[in-house]
Amino acid sequence: VRIGIVGGGQLGRMLGLAGVPLGMRLTVLDPAPDAPAAAVADHIVAEYEDEAALEELARASDIVTYECENVPVDAARSLARSVPVHPPPNALAASQDRLVEKAAFERAGIPVGAYAPAENEDEVRGALERVGVPAVVKARRFGYDGKGQAMVRSVEEVAPAWRAVARPAIVEARVPFDRELSILGVRAAGGELRCYPLVENRHRDGILRRSVSPAPRVTVDLQAQAERHLRRVADDLEYVGVLAIELFEVDGGLLGNEMAPRVHNSGHWTIEGSQTSQFENHLRAVAGLPLGSTAPRGVAAMLNLIGTVPDADQILAVPGAHLHLYGKSPRRGRKLGHVTLVADDHGDLQARIERVAALVH
Ligand code: AMP
Repeated sequence: VRIGIVGGGQLGRMLGLAGVPLGMRLTVLDPAPDAPAAAVADHIVAEYEDEAALEELARASDIVTYECENVPVDAARSLARSVPVHPPPNALAASQDRLVEKAAFERAGIPVGAYAPAENEDEVRGALERVGVPAVVKARRFGYDGKGQAMVRSVEEVAPAWRAVARPAIVEARVPFDRELSILGVRAAGGELRCYPLVENRHRDGILRRSVSPAPRVTVDLQAQAERHLRRVADDLEYVGVLAIELFEVDGGLLGNEMAPRVHNSGHWTIEGSQTSQFENHLRAVAGLPLGSTAPRGVAAMLNLIGTVPDADQILAVPGAHLHLYGKSPRRGRKLGHVTLVADDHGDLQARIERVAALVH
């Protein structure tokens, strides 16, 4: 099977690493000449909007998928006229606009925190009256990893927050969450769905730093609640592939934060920590192959390598550690790789996390 991927970052690279053993031939479309996925796939160097490049990708592929949600929806729709595209472009559209995304969650019966749209500074003020302070002003489109966001703790902070965002936004009440979780699942074209265990995530400055899965202290009910949420969204969108939903746990309940219509950073642990990685399962789903088991192998943690890469010798000396480097040049705030740790229980895992964290920071 020939798989085309729009986007050639680290997610494309890990999809490639999962696709090669399945005998898949991969082609990525990415404007960066040094795209991380180019190490494992044919590479068309062009912008996502480039018509000729999209046609070339369609010709080189039996199925097209994407690894980045900032792919223009029009590009995905135009590809879909000549080649099957999974997940559906509608899922891409829903994830690109925080307002549409929130509406999709509500339609699927997923509770969300208070929010209101705002197109200008005055509307931010109006929105604050509805959602209260503290609040977070977030650009509706093209915000990720905490970019295009500003916290508002009082009305005095509205003006600077609007200057920082300065485009159509939503204003969200700051959720006093107990912790952040994510649920990842893979849906086949026929509707079969398999979910991974809930992942506990820690962010700093809006960027994911650390994930642990299965998340500790998760009841059967909480896992079932998360899976129900994911199923509703995936079924509504007639989704095919891996879908991730980021959640806030508040008083034992779950609120939807955002979704990603693709493999997700909080699922990287599945490479070593699950029977079937999210990357392999995504490819199986889009290619119409049977889905693999999403059962965990022991417990796992993932630590992102942001801005700098630690010494490989020291990382790999930690029992159960695996190093994944993306081949990117170091830059402040850039995800350069990750370390996965596997262990038999959370006690051992925690000790290993502390060893790696000391090397990473
Ligand atoms: P996002 O880009 O929406 O995923 O936001 C990045 C991170 O900022 C989240 O993972 C949270 O840690 C934090 N955050 C975002 N929105 C809220 C909110 N409404 N309440 C509290 N924390 C938030």
